[in-house]
Amino acid sequence: MVLYAALFDAHNSKKLCSQDRDCTIGEPHIIPRSAHNISRSNISSGALKVLYTLNKAGYEAYLVGGGVRDLLLEAIPKDFDVATNAHPEEIRKLFRNCRLIGRRFRLAHVRFGREVVEVATFRGAAADVGDEDHLKINGRIVRDNVYGTLEEDAVRRDFSINCLYYNIANFSVVDFTGGMDDLKSRTLRLIGDPETRYREDPVRTLRALRFAAKLGFRIDPASEGPLARAAADLENIPPARLFEEVLKLFMEGCSWKTFELLRRYGVFGHLFPETGACLDDDEADVARRMVERALENTDSRIAQGKPVTPAFLFAALLWEPLRQDVEAMIARGMPAFQAYDLAGLDVIARQVEHVALPKRFSVITREIWEMQPRLERQRGARAKQILSRARFRAAYDFLLLRAEAGEPVAEAAEWWTRFQEGDEVEQNSMLEKPKRGRRRRRRRSKRRVTQ
Ligand code: ATP
Ligand code: MG
Repeated sequence: MVLYAALFDAHNSKKLCSQDRDCTIGEPHIIPRSAHNISRSNISSGALKVLYTLNKAGYEAYLVGGGVRDLLLEAIPKDFDVATNAHPEEIRKLFRNCRLIGRRFRLAHVRFGREVVEVATFRGAAADVGDEDHLKINGRIVRDNVYGTLEEDAVRRDFSINCLYYNIANFSVVDFTGGMDDLKSRTLRLIGDPETRYREDPVRTLRALRFAAKLGFRIDPASEGPLARAAADLENIPPARLFEEVLKLFMEGCSWKTFELLRRYGVFGHLFPETGACLDDDEADVARRMVERALENTDSRIAQGKPVTPAFLFAALLWEPLRQDVEAMIARGMPAFQAYDLAGLDVIARQVEHVALPKRFSVITREIWEMQPRLERQRGARAKQILSRARFRAAYDFLLLRAEAGEPVAEAAEWWTRFQEGDEVEQNSMLEKPKRGRRRRRRRSKRRVTQ
Protein backbone atom coordinates (compact mmCIF):
# COMPACT_ATOMS: atom_id res chain seq x y z
CA MET A 1 0.00 0.00 0.00
CA VAL A 2 1.35 3.37 -0.95
CA LEU A 3 1.57 6.13 1.54
CA TYR A 4 0.13 9.24 0.01
CA ALA A 5 2.21 11.35 2.32
CA ALA A 6 5.32 9.68 1.01
CA LEU A 7 4.39 10.59 -2.53
CA PHE A 8 4.33 14.25 -1.84
CA ASP A 9 7.22 16.45 -2.25
CA ALA A 10 6.32 19.70 -0.63
CA HIS A 11 7.55 21.86 -3.46
CA ASN A 12 8.18 20.10 -6.70
CA SER A 13 5.90 18.27 -9.00
CA LYS A 14 4.31 15.60 -6.81
CA LYS A 15 3.50 12.19 -8.08
CA LEU A 16 0.24 10.84 -6.79
CA CYS A 17 -0.21 7.57 -8.47
CA SER A 18 2.01 5.16 -10.15
CA GLN A 19 -0.10 2.73 -12.06
CA ASP A 20 -2.48 3.46 -14.88
CA ARG A 21 -1.84 7.06 -15.46
CA ASP A 22 0.83 9.57 -14.92
CA CYS A 23 -1.15 11.66 -12.56
CA THR A 24 0.92 14.39 -11.06
CA ILE A 25 0.12 17.38 -9.01
CA GLY A 26 2.40 20.17 -9.93
CA GLU A 27 2.02 23.87 -9.88
CA PRO A 28 -1.68 24.53 -10.09
CA HIS A 29 -3.21 25.91 -13.22
CA ILE A 30 -4.72 29.29 -12.27
CA ILE A 31 -7.64 30.40 -14.39
CA PRO A 32 -8.12 34.16 -13.97
CA ARG A 33 -11.57 35.73 -13.61
CA SER A 34 -11.52 36.82 -17.23
CA ALA A 35 -11.18 33.21 -18.40
CA HIS A 36 -14.05 31.52 -16.53
CA ASN A 37 -17.75 32.09 -16.08
CA ILE A 38 -18.17 32.08 -12.29
CA SER A 39 -19.92 35.24 -11.25
CA ARG A 40 -20.41 36.23 -7.63
CA SER A 41 -24.02 36.98 -8.43
CA ASN A 42 -24.59 33.22 -8.73
CA ILE A 43 -23.02 32.44 -5.37
CA SER A 44 -25.37 32.46 -2.38
CA SER A 45 -25.15 35.42 -0.04
CA GLY A 46 -24.31 33.07 2.85
CA ALA A 47 -21.37 31.49 1.02
CA LEU A 48 -20.09 34.93 0.00
CA LYS A 49 -20.30 36.17 3.59
CA VAL A 50 -18.31 33.18 4.81
CA LEU A 51 -15.68 33.61 2.11
CA TYR A 52 -15.25 37.34 2.71
CA THR A 53 -15.22 37.03 6.50
CA LEU A 54 -12.50 34.38 6.40
CA ASN A 55 -10.54 36.38 3.87
CA LYS A 56 -10.76 39.60 5.88
CA ALA A 57 -9.56 37.76 8.97
CA GLY A 58 -6.43 36.83 7.05
CA TYR A 59 -7.27 33.25 6.12
CA GLU A 60 -7.33 31.60 2.73
CA ALA A 61 -10.89 30.89 1.62
CA TYR A 62 -12.10 29.00 -1.41
CA LEU A 63 -15.38 27.79 -2.73
CA VAL A 64 -14.91 24.16 -3.71
CA GLY A 65 -16.69 20.98 -4.71
CA GLY A 66 -20.09 20.70 -6.33
CA GLY A 67 -20.75 24.45 -6.04
CA VAL A 68 -17.80 25.38 -8.26
CA ARG A 69 -18.37 22.44 -10.61
CA ASP A 70 -22.03 23.32 -11.12
CA LEU A 71 -21.36 27.05 -11.58
CA LEU A 72 -18.78 26.25 -14.25
CA LEU A 73 -21.36 24.00 -15.92
CA GLU A 74 -23.90 26.82 -15.67
CA ALA A 75 -26.11 24.72 -13.45
CA ILE A 76 -27.63 25.75 -10.14
CA PRO A 77 -25.56 24.39 -7.24
CA LYS A 78 -27.33 22.38 -4.57
CA ASP A 79 -25.21 23.91 -1.85
CA PHE A 80 -21.89 25.63 -1.31
CA ASP A 81 -18.84 24.21 0.40
CA VAL A 82 -15.95 26.32 1.57
CA ALA A 83 -12.37 25.21 2.21
CA THR A 84 -9.99 27.26 4.33
CA ASN A 85 -6.76 27.13 6.25
CA ALA A 86 -8.57 28.39 9.37
CA HIS A 87 -9.02 25.66 11.97
CA PRO A 88 -12.50 24.75 13.24
CA GLU A 89 -12.11 26.70 16.49
CA GLU A 90 -10.88 29.72 14.54
CA ILE A 91 -13.83 29.45 12.20
CA ARG A 92 -16.18 29.29 15.14
CA LYS A 93 -14.80 32.51 16.57
CA LEU A 94 -15.60 34.35 13.35
CA PHE A 95 -19.27 33.39 13.10
CA ARG A 96 -21.98 33.65 15.69
CA ASN A 97 -24.18 31.26 13.76
CA CYS A 98 -21.61 28.46 13.62
CA ARG A 99 -21.68 24.88 14.87
CA LEU A 100 -18.88 22.33 14.76
CA ILE A 101 -20.00 18.91 13.67
CA GLY A 102 -18.62 15.53 12.67
CA ARG A 103 -16.42 13.01 14.35
CA ARG A 104 -14.60 11.55 11.39
CA PHE A 105 -14.11 14.99 9.86
CA ARG A 106 -14.60 18.06 11.98
CA LEU A 107 -16.51 20.60 9.97
CA ALA A 108 -18.10 23.93 10.67
CA HIS A 109 -21.68 24.59 9.67
CA VAL A 110 -22.47 28.27 9.33
CA ARG A 111 -26.16 28.99 9.16
CA PHE A 112 -27.90 31.91 7.44
CA GLY A 113 -31.63 31.40 7.76
CA ARG A 114 -32.33 28.21 5.84
CA GLU A 115 -28.95 28.11 4.17
CA VAL A 116 -26.11 26.15 5.75
CA VAL A 117 -22.60 26.71 4.42
CA GLU A 118 -20.22 23.89 5.16
CA VAL A 119 -16.72 25.10 5.99
CA ALA A 120 -13.90 22.58 6.11
CA THR A 121 -10.32 23.13 7.11
CA PHE A 122 -7.85 21.93 4.43
CA ARG A 123 -7.36 18.27 5.08
CA GLY A 124 -4.03 16.49 5.02
CA ALA A 125 -3.22 13.25 3.24
CA ALA A 126 -4.39 9.98 4.70
CA ALA A 127 -1.75 7.58 5.87
CA ASP A 128 -1.68 3.80 5.95
CA VAL A 129 -1.08 3.35 9.59
CA GLY A 130 -0.30 5.83 12.22
CA ASP A 131 -1.67 8.07 14.82
CA GLU A 132 -5.17 8.41 16.10
CA ASP A 133 -6.19 11.17 13.75
CA HIS A 134 -4.97 9.53 10.64
CA LEU A 135 -6.00 5.97 10.35
CA LYS A 136 -6.58 3.44 7.59
CA ILE A 137 -7.78 -0.12 8.10
CA ASN A 138 -7.24 -2.48 5.16
CA GLY A 139 -6.78 0.55 2.98
CA ARG A 140 -10.03 2.15 4.07
CA ILE A 141 -9.82 5.54 5.70
CA VAL A 142 -11.54 5.39 9.05
CA ARG A 143 -10.17 8.58 10.49
CA ASP A 144 -8.82 11.51 8.63
CA ASN A 145 -8.58 14.47 10.87
CA VAL A 146 -5.24 15.98 10.07
CA TYR A 147 -5.09 19.46 8.67
CA GLY A 148 -3.08 20.12 5.57
CA THR A 149 -2.26 22.54 2.81
CA LEU A 150 -4.38 23.50 -0.14
CA GLU A 151 -2.52 21.00 -2.33
CA GLU A 152 -3.01 18.21 0.17
CA ASP A 153 -6.66 19.09 0.39
CA ALA A 154 -6.87 18.84 -3.39
CA VAL A 155 -5.42 15.34 -3.71
CA ARG A 156 -7.74 13.82 -1.19
CA ARG A 157 -10.83 14.97 -3.03
CA ASP A 158 -12.58 12.40 -5.18
CA PHE A 159 -12.92 13.54 -8.81
CA SER A 160 -10.95 16.15 -10.68
CA ILE A 161 -14.16 18.04 -11.51
CA ASN A 162 -14.90 18.29 -7.76
CA CYS A 163 -11.46 19.66 -7.09
CA LEU A 164 -11.64 23.16 -8.49
CA TYR A 165 -11.13 25.99 -6.02
CA TYR A 166 -12.64 29.42 -6.51
CA ASN A 167 -10.39 31.86 -4.71
CA ILE A 168 -12.27 34.73 -3.13
CA ALA A 169 -9.04 36.75 -2.89
CA ASN A 170 -8.81 37.31 -6.66
CA PHE A 171 -11.82 35.45 -8.14
CA SER A 172 -9.58 32.98 -9.98
CA VAL A 173 -10.12 29.22 -10.19
CA VAL A 174 -7.27 27.02 -8.97
CA ASP A 175 -6.98 23.68 -10.77
CA PHE A 176 -4.45 21.11 -9.55
CA THR A 177 -5.81 18.00 -11.21
CA GLY A 178 -6.99 18.86 -14.70
CA GLY A 179 -10.57 19.38 -13.57
CA MET A 180 -11.19 22.15 -16.10
CA ASP A 181 -10.25 19.91 -19.02
CA ASP A 182 -12.34 17.10 -17.59
CA LEU A 183 -15.32 19.41 -17.27
CA LYS A 184 -14.89 20.36 -20.91
CA SER A 185 -14.64 16.76 -22.08
CA ARG A 186 -17.40 15.74 -19.64
CA THR A 187 -15.27 13.14 -17.94
CA LEU A 188 -15.34 11.81 -14.40
CA ARG A 189 -11.82 11.00 -13.35
CA LEU A 190 -10.74 9.94 -9.89
CA ILE A 191 -7.74 11.79 -8.59
CA GLY A 192 -4.85 9.40 -8.01
CA ASP A 193 -4.81 5.65 -8.46
CA PRO A 194 -8.44 4.56 -8.82
CA GLU A 195 -8.10 1.22 -7.02
CA THR A 196 -6.48 2.87 -4.03
CA ARG A 197 -9.04 5.65 -3.97
CA TYR A 198 -11.98 3.23 -4.09
CA ARG A 199 -10.36 1.10 -1.39
CA GLU A 200 -9.87 4.14 0.83
CA ASP A 201 -13.54 4.94 0.53
CA PRO A 202 -15.85 2.56 -1.36
CA VAL A 203 -18.59 5.20 -1.28
CA ARG A 204 -16.68 6.81 -4.14
CA THR A 205 -18.10 4.04 -6.36
CA LEU A 206 -21.58 5.35 -5.59
CA ARG A 207 -20.47 8.92 -6.11
CA ALA A 208 -19.02 8.02 -9.51
CA LEU A 209 -22.34 6.59 -10.68
CA ARG A 210 -24.35 9.39 -9.12
CA PHE A 211 -22.35 12.07 -10.90
CA ALA A 212 -22.32 10.08 -14.14
CA ALA A 213 -26.13 9.97 -14.02
CA LYS A 214 -26.68 13.52 -12.81
CA LEU A 215 -24.20 15.25 -15.07
CA GLY A 216 -24.37 12.85 -18.02
CA PHE A 217 -20.57 12.49 -17.88
CA ARG A 218 -18.64 9.42 -18.97
CA ILE A 219 -16.44 7.70 -16.44
CA ASP A 220 -12.83 7.66 -17.52
CA PRO A 221 -11.82 4.04 -18.32
CA ALA A 222 -9.16 3.94 -15.59
CA SER A 223 -11.74 4.97 -13.02
CA GLU A 224 -14.43 2.77 -14.54
CA GLY A 225 -12.37 -0.44 -14.67
CA PRO A 226 -12.13 -1.25 -10.96
CA LEU A 227 -15.48 0.28 -10.02
CA ALA A 228 -17.69 -2.83 -10.03
CA ARG A 229 -15.18 -4.88 -8.05
CA ALA A 230 -14.51 -2.07 -5.58
CA ALA A 231 -18.21 -1.68 -4.85
CA ALA A 232 -18.18 -5.04 -3.03
CA ASP A 233 -16.39 -3.21 -0.20
CA LEU A 234 -19.54 -1.18 0.41
CA GLU A 235 -20.43 -3.94 2.84
CA ASN A 236 -17.83 -2.44 5.21
CA ILE A 237 -19.49 0.95 5.21
CA PRO A 238 -21.76 1.72 8.16
CA PRO A 239 -25.44 1.38 7.15
CA ALA A 240 -26.18 4.85 8.50
CA ARG A 241 -23.72 6.41 6.05
CA LEU A 242 -25.14 4.36 3.21
CA PHE A 243 -28.61 5.64 4.06
CA GLU A 244 -27.35 9.19 3.48
CA GLU A 245 -25.81 8.11 0.19
CA VAL A 246 -28.95 6.29 -0.92
CA LEU A 247 -30.92 9.49 -0.37
CA LYS A 248 -28.48 11.31 -2.66
CA LEU A 249 -28.72 8.53 -5.24
CA PHE A 250 -32.49 8.39 -5.36
CA MET A 251 -33.84 11.67 -4.09
CA GLU A 252 -32.06 14.29 -6.10
CA GLY A 253 -34.07 14.15 -9.29
CA CYS A 254 -32.40 11.55 -11.49
CA SER A 255 -33.02 8.39 -9.58
CA TRP A 256 -34.07 6.33 -12.59
CA LYS A 257 -30.89 7.03 -14.51
CA THR A 258 -28.82 6.43 -11.40
CA PHE A 259 -30.60 3.15 -10.74
CA GLU A 260 -29.89 1.98 -14.29
CA LEU A 261 -26.19 2.68 -13.80
CA LEU A 262 -26.17 1.00 -10.40
CA ARG A 263 -27.69 -2.08 -12.01
CA ARG A 264 -25.41 -1.98 -15.03
CA TYR A 265 -22.31 -1.94 -12.84
CA GLY A 266 -23.68 -4.56 -10.44
CA VAL A 267 -23.64 -2.10 -7.56
CA PHE A 268 -27.34 -1.98 -6.71
CA GLY A 269 -27.24 -5.46 -5.15
CA HIS A 270 -24.66 -4.27 -2.61
CA LEU A 271 -27.19 -1.77 -1.32
CA PHE A 272 -30.42 -3.74 -1.67
CA PRO A 273 -29.33 -7.37 -1.94
CA GLU A 274 -32.78 -8.96 -1.79
CA THR A 275 -34.33 -6.55 -4.28
CA GLY A 276 -31.31 -7.01 -6.55
CA ALA A 277 -31.76 -10.78 -6.49
CA CYS A 278 -35.49 -10.48 -7.22
CA LEU A 279 -34.85 -8.14 -10.16
CA ASP A 280 -32.29 -10.54 -11.64
CA ASP A 281 -35.04 -13.08 -12.17
CA ASP A 282 -36.04 -13.15 -15.85
CA GLU A 283 -39.68 -13.42 -14.89
CA ALA A 284 -39.61 -10.33 -12.71
CA ASP A 285 -41.12 -7.93 -15.24
CA VAL A 286 -43.75 -6.59 -12.89
CA ALA A 287 -41.19 -6.12 -10.11
CA ARG A 288 -38.86 -4.28 -12.47
CA ARG A 289 -41.67 -2.05 -13.69
CA MET A 290 -42.62 -1.30 -10.09
CA VAL A 291 -39.13 0.02 -9.33
CA GLU A 292 -39.01 1.86 -12.65
CA ARG A 293 -42.38 3.53 -12.11
CA ALA A 294 -41.54 4.41 -8.50
CA LEU A 295 -38.27 6.06 -9.47
CA GLU A 296 -39.70 7.89 -12.47
CA ASN A 297 -42.48 9.08 -10.24
CA THR A 298 -39.97 10.30 -7.64
CA ASP A 299 -38.03 12.17 -10.31
CA SER A 300 -41.11 13.85 -11.69
CA ARG A 301 -42.32 14.86 -8.21
CA ILE A 302 -38.93 16.43 -7.53
CA ALA A 303 -39.04 18.23 -10.88
CA GLN A 304 -42.42 19.66 -9.88
CA GLY A 305 -41.17 20.70 -6.45
CA LYS A 306 -43.40 18.16 -4.69
CA PRO A 307 -42.22 16.47 -1.51
CA VAL A 308 -40.80 12.95 -1.56
CA THR A 309 -40.10 10.72 1.40
CA PRO A 310 -37.59 7.94 1.92
CA ALA A 311 -40.44 5.93 3.48
CA PHE A 312 -42.20 5.66 0.11
CA LEU A 313 -38.97 5.06 -1.78
CA PHE A 314 -38.00 2.16 0.48
CA ALA A 315 -41.56 0.80 0.32
CA ALA A 316 -41.21 0.60 -3.46
CA LEU A 317 -37.64 -0.69 -3.54
CA LEU A 318 -38.38 -3.45 -1.05
CA TRP A 319 -41.82 -4.31 -2.37
CA GLU A 320 -40.86 -7.40 -4.32
CA PRO A 321 -39.00 -9.15 -1.46
CA LEU A 322 -41.89 -8.23 0.81
CA ARG A 323 -44.47 -9.52 -1.65
CA GLN A 324 -42.68 -12.83 -1.99
CA ASP A 325 -42.46 -13.25 1.79
CA VAL A 326 -46.13 -12.37 2.20
CA GLU A 327 -47.11 -14.84 -0.50
CA ALA A 328 -45.15 -17.62 1.20
CA MET A 329 -46.70 -16.82 4.59
CA ILE A 330 -50.20 -16.78 3.16
CA ALA A 331 -49.54 -20.08 1.41
CA ARG A 332 -48.68 -21.48 4.83
CA GLY A 333 -52.08 -20.37 6.08
CA MET A 334 -51.35 -17.03 7.71
CA PRO A 335 -54.03 -14.34 7.32
CA ALA A 336 -52.98 -11.62 4.89
CA PHE A 337 -52.97 -8.76 7.39
CA GLN A 338 -50.72 -10.64 9.75
CA ALA A 339 -48.47 -11.70 6.90
CA TYR A 340 -47.95 -8.08 5.81
CA ASP A 341 -47.22 -7.12 9.38
CA LEU A 342 -44.65 -9.84 10.02
CA ALA A 343 -43.03 -9.81 6.60
CA GLY A 344 -42.75 -6.02 6.84
CA LEU A 345 -40.79 -6.26 10.06
CA ASP A 346 -38.57 -9.05 8.69
CA VAL A 347 -37.76 -7.45 5.35
CA ILE A 348 -36.81 -4.17 7.00
CA ALA A 349 -34.74 -5.90 9.68
CA ARG A 350 -32.75 -7.71 6.98
CA GLN A 351 -32.37 -4.61 4.82
CA VAL A 352 -31.08 -2.32 7.57
CA GLU A 353 -28.04 -4.55 7.96
CA HIS A 354 -26.94 -3.03 4.65
CA VAL A 355 -28.54 0.38 4.37
CA ALA A 356 -30.11 1.91 7.45
CA LEU A 357 -33.64 3.22 7.40
CA PRO A 358 -34.37 5.36 10.47
CA LYS A 359 -37.40 4.25 12.45
CA ARG A 360 -39.34 7.41 11.72
CA PHE A 361 -39.37 6.31 8.08
CA SER A 362 -39.61 2.54 8.46
CA VAL A 363 -42.79 2.90 10.52
CA ILE A 364 -44.39 4.68 7.56
CA THR A 365 -42.98 2.20 5.05
CA ARG A 366 -44.66 -0.61 6.94
CA GLU A 367 -47.93 1.30 7.19
CA ILE A 368 -47.93 1.79 3.43
CA TRP A 369 -47.49 -1.96 2.97
CA GLU A 370 -50.01 -2.93 5.63
CA MET A 371 -52.67 -0.80 4.00
CA GLN A 372 -52.34 -2.57 0.66
CA PRO A 373 -54.55 -5.58 1.45
CA ARG A 374 -57.06 -3.22 3.04
CA LEU A 375 -57.21 -1.06 -0.06
CA GLU A 376 -57.50 -4.11 -2.26
CA ARG A 377 -60.50 -5.44 -0.43
CA GLN A 378 -62.26 -2.93 1.68
CA ARG A 379 -65.20 -1.44 -0.15
CA GLY A 380 -67.56 -1.62 2.79
CA ALA A 381 -68.37 0.57 5.74
CA ARG A 382 -64.74 0.87 6.82
CA ALA A 383 -63.70 2.55 3.59
CA LYS A 384 -64.40 5.97 5.07
CA GLN A 385 -62.21 5.21 8.06
CA ILE A 386 -59.41 4.13 5.75
CA LEU A 387 -59.79 7.32 3.76
CA SER A 388 -59.24 9.40 6.88
CA ARG A 389 -56.08 7.59 7.94
CA ALA A 390 -52.90 9.63 7.93
CA ARG A 391 -51.16 7.25 5.58
CA PHE A 392 -54.04 6.88 3.14
CA ARG A 393 -52.60 9.14 0.46
CA ALA A 394 -49.21 7.42 0.40
CA ALA A 395 -50.80 3.97 0.47
CA TYR A 396 -53.18 4.94 -2.35
CA ASP A 397 -50.31 6.33 -4.45
CA PHE A 398 -48.53 3.06 -3.84
CA LEU A 399 -51.58 1.10 -5.01
CA LEU A 400 -51.62 3.21 -8.19
CA LEU A 401 -47.97 2.39 -8.80
CA ARG A 402 -48.68 -1.30 -8.40
CA ALA A 403 -51.51 -1.02 -10.89
CA GLU A 404 -49.27 0.82 -13.36
CA ALA A 405 -46.60 -1.83 -12.91
CA GLY A 406 -49.10 -4.47 -13.99
CA GLU A 407 -50.23 -6.00 -10.72
CA PRO A 408 -53.88 -7.06 -10.74
CA VAL A 409 -55.06 -4.16 -8.58
CA ALA A 410 -56.25 -1.75 -11.27
CA GLU A 411 -59.88 -2.20 -10.34
CA ALA A 412 -59.23 -1.46 -6.66
CA ALA A 413 -57.12 1.56 -7.59
CA GLU A 414 -59.87 2.89 -9.80
CA TRP A 415 -62.48 2.33 -7.09
CA TRP A 416 -60.44 4.35 -4.58
CA THR A 417 -59.88 7.11 -7.11
CA ARG A 418 -63.62 7.45 -7.61
CA PHE A 419 -64.36 7.05 -3.92
CA GLN A 420 -62.04 9.88 -2.94
CA GLU A 421 -63.41 12.18 -5.57
CA GLY A 422 -67.04 11.46 -4.73
CA ASP A 423 -69.20 13.54 -2.42
CA GLU A 424 -70.92 12.00 0.58
CA VAL A 425 -73.89 10.72 -1.44
CA GLU A 426 -71.72 9.21 -4.13
CA GLN A 427 -69.45 7.65 -1.55
CA ASN A 428 -72.37 6.08 0.27
CA SER A 429 -73.72 4.68 -2.96
CA MET A 430 -70.36 3.05 -3.68
CA LEU A 431 -70.14 1.21 -0.38
CA GLU A 432 -70.94 -2.48 -0.49
CA LYS A 433 -73.91 -3.24 1.65
CA PRO A 434 -73.45 -5.88 4.32
CA LYS A 435 -75.08 -9.12 3.16
CA ARG A 436 -76.33 -12.12 4.96
CA GLY A 437 -73.62 -14.66 5.45
CA ARG A 438 -71.06 -11.92 4.96
CA ARG A 439 -68.96 -12.98 7.91
CA ARG A 440 -68.38 -16.41 6.49
CA ARG A 441 -67.55 -15.09 3.06
CA ARG A 442 -65.19 -12.50 4.50
CA ARG A 443 -63.33 -15.05 6.48
CA ARG A 444 -62.90 -17.24 3.44
CA SER A 445 -61.79 -14.33 1.29
CA LYS A 446 -59.19 -13.47 3.91
CA ARG A 447 -57.44 -16.66 3.12
CA ARG A 448 -57.46 -15.90 -0.56
CA VAL A 449 -54.12 -14.58 -1.63
CA THR A 450 -53.51 -10.90 -1.93
CA GLN A 451 -50.83 -10.19 -4.47
P1 ATP B 1 -23.42 17.67 -4.75
O1 ATP B 1 -23.76 18.54 -5.87
O2 ATP B 1 -24.13 16.39 -4.74
O3 ATP B 1 -23.41 18.35 -3.39
P2 ATP B 1 -20.60 17.60 -4.27
O4 ATP B 1 -19.47 17.26 -5.18
O5 ATP B 1 -20.64 18.99 -3.72
O6 ATP B 1 -21.90 17.24 -5.04
P3 ATP B 1 -20.54 16.79 -1.53
O7 ATP B 1 -20.92 15.48 -0.94
O8 ATP B 1 -21.28 18.01 -1.14
O9 ATP B 1 -20.60 16.57 -3.10
O10 ATP B 1 -19.00 16.97 -1.24
C1 ATP B 1 -18.32 18.19 -1.43
C2 ATP B 1 -16.92 17.91 -1.95
O11 ATP B 1 -16.18 17.15 -0.98
C3 ATP B 1 -16.84 17.07 -3.20
O12 ATP B 1 -17.01 17.85 -4.35
C4 ATP B 1 -15.47 16.47 -3.11
O13 ATP B 1 -14.48 17.39 -3.49
C5 ATP B 1 -15.33 16.22 -1.62
N1 ATP B 1 -15.80 14.87 -1.26
C6 ATP B 1 -17.03 14.50 -0.86
N2 ATP B 1 -17.09 13.19 -0.61
C7 ATP B 1 -15.87 12.69 -0.83
C8 ATP B 1 -15.28 11.40 -0.76
N3 ATP B 1 -16.00 10.36 -0.38
N4 ATP B 1 -13.97 11.28 -1.08
C9 ATP B 1 -13.25 12.35 -1.45
N5 ATP B 1 -13.74 13.58 -1.56
C10 ATP B 1 -15.02 13.77 -1.26
MG1 MG C 1 -22.04 19.76 -2.25
